[in-house]
Amino acid sequence: MAAVLSLLPLSAAIAALAAVPAALELDQSQMRPVLHSVAAPSITDQVDELVARDDFHLREVRVQRGETLAALFTRLGIVDAAALRFAQTDTAARLLVRLPPGRFVQSSIASDGRLQWLKVHSAGDLDGALATTRITTLDRSIGTESGFRVVDADIALERRVELKTGEVRVSLFGATDEADVPEAIAHQMIDALEGEIDFHRDLRRGARFRVIYEALYSSGEYLRAGRLLAVELENGGKRVAAYWFANGSKHGGFYGADGRSFKQAFLRSPLEYTRVSSGFSASRTHPIFGYDAAHRGVDYAAAAGTNVRSIAEGVVEFAGWQRGYGNVVEVRHDGKHVTLYAHLESITAGLRQGMRIGQGDSVGNVGMTGWATGPHLHFELKVHDLHVNPLTAELPAAQPLAVAQLASFALAAAPLRAQLALLERVSIALDRPR
Ligand SMILES: [Zn+2]
Repeated sequence: MAAVLSLLPLSAAIAALAAVPAALELDQSQMRPVLHSVAAPSITDQVDELVARDDFHLREVRVQRGETLAALFTRLGIVDAAALRFAQTDTAARLLVRLPPGRFVQSSIASDGRLQWLKVHSAGDLDGALATTRITTLDRSIGTESGFRVVDADIALERRVELKTGEVRVSLFGATDEADVPEAIAHQMIDALEGEIDFHRDLRRGARFRVIYEALYSSGEYLRAGRLLAVELENGGKRVAAYWFANGSKHGGFYGADGRSFKQAFLRSPLEYTRVSSGFSASRTHPIFGYDAAHRGVDYAAAAGTNVRSIAEGVVEFAGWQRGYGNVVEVRHDGKHVTLYAHLESITAGLRQGMRIGQGDSVGNVGMTGWATGPHLHFELKVHDLHVNPLTAELPAAQPLAVAQLASFALAAAPLRAQLALLERVSIALDRPR
């Protein structure tokens, strides 16, 4: 079962949390744990509740670079031509057409894909110590000719720290939904840990997670997620924990308890792990075949259209069509490492030879162009021009924290570690049959 534990600040200490790294020290004496759910509801109760519940589902994502409103609708699962047409043509909805990357977008969607409402938050940054935010809402309105309207509102913000835990039974996103963890936090969990684990291949059923994150409220109502502060994952007997550290700059990152950076130079997987990514390695295996020296690469089974990312920053060495490979992109990362992504349905628009790209930047999406019998990604890694197995190759390690920063990191991480440990004890106590 999912246990939900909130720490309620008794003073305004939390408000200063994001401003300076040292403020990460949460004063435990100022917090009292409050247990929201104690007894596990029976399966029939849960099913009854699901049936009774309104058929609208909530999604919370951040706008990706270069994403159009139509693409955002698709990603959110919105199938509503009238709503899209209104947003694209109404002058009041202008903000919605060119959404800056990073903006928080929330939507409520009926089971048939019709939009109930869409909210865009004006401030996208996670750490901003803003006191207010502007929210633009597109919703259905009986009173207008188009059936829709756009409303702007300025809203006062209040920051809270939330602690949640859950168990992966069907998928990671299923588990975070069940534990009431905002989708934007689930994405940050993946970002924090995907240098450590390949979510496509390594995630096991029964994996447990614990998270500590900030959430923004207004007049007691949840508004949106803020920054993930700490995450711990127990997966197949292995335990990994990451702590956010602002590192005295705007560009903070996630670090292990020992101060090792989790921002690896190379991602573990070229495939983005999303809500629709298939489940566990035991069922639909990723990759479909292990490394085959004659074949020179690894094939990842994935739905056509799945985003394919460059696993490290580098320069595009080739982007185009090659016999056998179909649409293929090759990226040189340094003097030593080159990666290749083949059978792409399409190559990311604007990607050209000689172009510099960042880690995680899209190179295209999964397809079956060239010699492929079904949609999959063919992925190669070359080290000094020799093909190696990307699943086992040693990849450059990330920079650890400087010795001078270790002490302030340890100070910032200590209360988070204590809270993760507390969360673990509470959830074990809740799981124990009585
Ligand atoms: Zn292949």
